[in-house]
Amino acid sequence: MIPFLDLKGINAQYREKLIEACTKVIDSGWYVQGSEHKEFEKEFAEYCGSKYAIGVANGLDALILILRAYKELEFMEDGDEVIVPSNTYIASILAISENNLVPLLVEPQIDTYLIDPSKIEEKITSKTKAIMPVHLYGQTCEMDEINTIAKKYNLKVIEDSAQAHGAYYKDKRAGNLGDASGFSFYPGKNLGALGDGGAVTTNDEELANTIKALGNYGSHKKYENKFKGVNSRLDEMQAAMLRVKLRYLDKEIAKRKEIANYYLINIKNENIILPTIQTKSVWHLFVIRTTKREELQKYLLDNGVQTLIHYPLAPHKQEAYKEWNDDSYPISEQIHDEVLSLPISGVQSMEDTKKIVKLLNTLKGID
Ligand SMILES: *Cc1c(COP(=O)(O)O)cnc(C)c1O
Repeated sequence: MIPFLDLKGINAQYREKLIEACTKVIDSGWYVQGSEHKEFEKEFAEYCGSKYAIGVANGLDALILILRAYKELEFMEDGDEVIVPSNTYIASILAISENNLVPLLVEPQIDTYLIDPSKIEEKITSKTKAIMPVHLYGQTCEMDEINTIAKKYNLKVIEDSAQAHGAYYKDKRAGNLGDASGFSFYPGKNLGALGDGGAVTTNDEELANTIKALGNYGSHKKYENKFKGVNSRLDEMQAAMLRVKLRYLDKEIAKRKEIANYYLINIKNENIILPTIQTKSVWHLFVIRTTKREELQKYLLDNGVQTLIHYPLAPHKQEAYKEWNDDSYPISEQIHDEVLSLPISGVQSMEDTKKIVKLLNTLKGID
């Protein structure tokens, strides 16, 4: 079986170094808010090209804390609106709801699956305070257009970079393309911990300090609490694992690009629509579209290839957002009905990649 993602194989590449890093943490006697955390923040900020990085417990918390900080800094208040793509992973939207803010869903472009900048302005009201572009599947959004709109209406731009560590837009990387950015280090992301983890990056010192405090019980200084904060921190063990893996992230991205390019050049099947890249992608996912998804997925599985669907149900169709269930976002719905993610990772062999392409190309009308 060619797995969708061989996580064990990915981490096995760094086994010795990970064990060494673990041992160092165990022997240090310091497990939360120590030197690994501090060093990782420094290294990750440098990698993204941003001034600050703040380690938090996971990617959802990263987004929640950015919005919460803007509320504490009185840039926004309960009931204000945040623009977000309608086809994103639901976590982006949950971060908005969690803050008593109102998500305004904007349809994506059908070819890139990214928020359509030409549909943002019509949604903006006097209560709109931010745009949350999501660099979905690893491709950066059209940030020039988005930042121009944000400037015109005085909105904050909060990137959801959970799938785009290292992805460029022009000469800058995700995490440095707006006012603040949330990252996830969930094990399956391109930069994955061996557990949960997340980070916020920003160039705004006041925002960085506020987020740091909010994630540590609202405290800037031990036993002094300025905010009613939460506990959301990146622990020493995960920070140490991430420091090892960050050094190899560009290599991981290069391998993914190699596979993606092979797919793009060699998949030839009239039932399959290949992804369109307008900016740059780090290929967190390689997502094709087909009206014969069920048959194609079964055919691949019968032939030893595991695929996944990102995502089967649009956020506005979820029970969690019952109030939106009757709303219509036809482009998102089409995407949710037709997408299929092919296996891709830094450890996938060219032999396996070729096998997948051959299977796809020899499949005639899937009827
Ligand atoms: C994974 C992901 C998140 C949430 O990250 P967690 O670390 O799992 O909380 C948010 N947004 C997007 C687009 C994601 O893919």
